[in-house]
Amino acid sequence: MVLYMKVLIADEVDQECPSRLKAAGFDVKEWYGISQEDLKKVIADYEILIVRSRTKVTKEIIDLGKRLKIIARVGVGLDTIDVEAAQAKGIKVINTPQMSTVAVAELTMSLMLNLLRGTHLAIESMKKGLWEKKHFYGSELRGKTLGIVGFGRIGKAVAERAHAFGMKILVYDLFVENEVLGKLGASRAGSLEELLSGSDVVTLHVALTPETKQMINARTLSMMRRGSYLINTSRGEVVNTKDLLEALKGGQLAGAALDVYENEPPKEPWERELISLPNVIATPHIGAQTREAQVAGAIAVAENIINAFKTL
Ligand code: NAD
Repeated sequence: MVLYMKVLIADEVDQECPSRLKAAGFDVKEWYGISQEDLKKVIADYEILIVRSRTKVTKEIIDLGKRLKIIARVGVGLDTIDVEAAQAKGIKVINTPQMSTVAVAELTMSLMLNLLRGTHLAIESMKKGLWEKKHFYGSELRGKTLGIVGFGRIGKAVAERAHAFGMKILVYDLFVENEVLGKLGASRAGSLEELLSGSDVVTLHVALTPETKQMINARTLSMMRRGSYLINTSRGEVVNTKDLLEALKGGQLAGAALDVYENEPPKEPWERELISLPNVIATPHIGAQTREAQVAGAIAVAENIINAFKTL
């Protein structure tokens, strides 16, 4: 029986979420942008708390939430929720990791197309009122080898799209299902080194773990083909920014495209220098920011909560 179960939505989500929950009989309070102080005052009244990354669900909030049964994150990262404290109290923590798969995969393709073609520079030049037609000779994706590091949800979605562009695909992951490789005509690299030395473009889609932190550094950058490209839409900490800057300045890499950074926003001088290079394309962590992904996340959270109450 879900009637009178009280839900607090602390951060702005698409209306699909509150309207589905209301239709299922939940009592929903939308208090977007609630302060931590107000949250502490009211959390004891709610069974369910829905957040995005803005709201920090600390142990203190969890301890005050005497009736809490579910904490739901619209999005992927659970670093803003004290998951251990929640689980210790039997509170279910749910997220929507699948919502941004297509959004990130499409951004990766867009970055890759722009990077190899130099479109970003041509656009900049046109906006200055110039007509530098002869300056802009780029490369095609067709026939190039794309090395995909991390063959999970997003890595596979990128592979499908790159395959349609006529790219050869090489993947490196701890676990790879051969069946999926076969469908995409992809090959498996036996090691990170094999992938890096065999690719024209390397795109990173690993989860951030102690093993993948700084996985791309001076040593691994030197294994890449001279004149190849790097794309990172995974997590900033997977790449050593200073080493990447050196690889770009020294010509080891022809270019890089980044959506994620060691510091967000980037603040160190070497991060600013990296972003200002003409052969670097940088976006401000917009991977999941499509209308479709936001709606999908809102629906997934609502449905997960409704289903969870069937089993609670
Ligand atoms: P996923 O969990 O489906 O895939 C991650 C893959 O990394 C897994 O297949 C895993 O086996 C592999 N992996 C882990 N450790 C490895 C290692 N040491 N060596 C090789 N492979 C390893 O995750 P996903 O949903 O595909 O997300 C991929 C990345 O994209 C994550 O870092 C995620 O945080 C990031 N992401 C970014 C945005 C954005 O806005 N730019 C949005 C969503 C996700």
